[in-house]
Amino acid sequence: MRSDRAADGAAEADKRQETGNAAAASPDRASNQPEMGGAVIGRRNLSPLIDKLCADHSLSLAEYEFLIANRTPEAARLLSERAAAVRKSIYGNTVYIRGLIEISNICRNDCLYCGIRKSNSNCSRYRLTPEEILSCANEGYALGFRTFVLQGGEDGYFNDTVLCGIVRRIKERHPDCAVTLSMGERSRESYKLLRDAGADRYLLRHETADKAHYEKLHPVQMSYDNRMRCLRDLRETGYQVGCGFMVGSPYQTPAELAKDLKFIENFRPDMCGIGPFIPHRDTPFGGFPAGTVELTCYLLSIIRLIRPPVLLPSTTALGTIHPTGREMGILSGANVIMPNLSPVSVRKKYELYNNKICTGEESAQCRADLERRMRAIGYEVVTARGDIRRDTRQRP
Ligand code: SF4
Repeated sequence: MRSDRAADGAAEADKRQETGNAAAASPDRASNQPEMGGAVIGRRNLSPLIDKLCADHSLSLAEYEFLIANRTPEAARLLSERAAAVRKSIYGNTVYIRGLIEISNICRNDCLYCGIRKSNSNCSRYRLTPEEILSCANEGYALGFRTFVLQGGEDGYFNDTVLCGIVRRIKERHPDCAVTLSMGERSRESYKLLRDAGADRYLLRHETADKAHYEKLHPVQMSYDNRMRCLRDLRETGYQVGCGFMVGSPYQTPAELAKDLKFIENFRPDMCGIGPFIPHRDTPFGGFPAGTVELTCYLLSIIRLIRPPVLLPSTTALGTIHPTGREMGILSGANVIMPNLSPVSVRKKYELYNNKICTGEESAQCRADLERRMRAIGYEVVTARGDIRRDTRQRP
């Protein structure tokens, strides 16, 4: 069942989609085609635009939209080759791993796409204790992880005192490790306290850089402006900051994706998490189609070219919609994977979307499996904190 707001949005989006498709089907309509040096770019030849992206790490909004709406297998191949080359020039053939610890599936929010939203009464709730979280980190350390990502819903139990205590204990025990938090929207003061406690990085997906689209994905209590405020505060508080979005989320069109790319270009995140939207049956978006591997990989390549040193995960969601999705993400320009270190007993409960993979394996199995998969495509999982590398040849 869609909410009223969602249903209204659907009609509007469908109308817009029709308009967009009509434009895409008429290559002679020059108004929809960006020009380069006076020459209109043909639908089938996107290489001048890709060359421009490689040289400038920037395109106009119209050019991003055009690159997405008119994509071809040939353009995808070219982007992926260029992105892989750029990625190799900075990170070689290494793949960084992050140990993901899903600390709570309790959330005060009701994002329309999320399986652990507060209105989902079918969700069986859990919260790890600080000792359990420490124990996951210790196990991860022994397996070679040097970054721990604490991720959870916006659960009031993890106030500043509790969360700062956990961060401090992990850093005291494992001073050579980075701690990344992915704990949602908090006050600037809270971000500052957590940073002072030792947190190094913070992931907060912006979800969409289009305010109207944001409002179709979230309840009225949540605000696009506050999400952007959080990202600014995180940057100013000294974190390595990650943003990101779902590919193929309801009502998303190439125009919204173009805004996401422009936002990434301007915000210049240290990390960027993108993965396909996958519907969860117990949400208002349960009947919407999933995003695709094809478009996700296409966008991964573009993001690598916009921001060459960015830490770019090949997400579990990619591996969920395709058996070799994570390998395809790496080959498209990603350089990070995030195996699960949560206790096996709770993994199925952290179900943001249906059919999530890797919920039944022990952490050691997950790591070994990913190492084997990466080796099979010519990449090597390394034991390192995996901070962003600043490449002086690129825009700083
Ligand atoms: S997406 Fe995050 S903030 Fe929104 S309901 Fe899910 S866990 Fe909560």
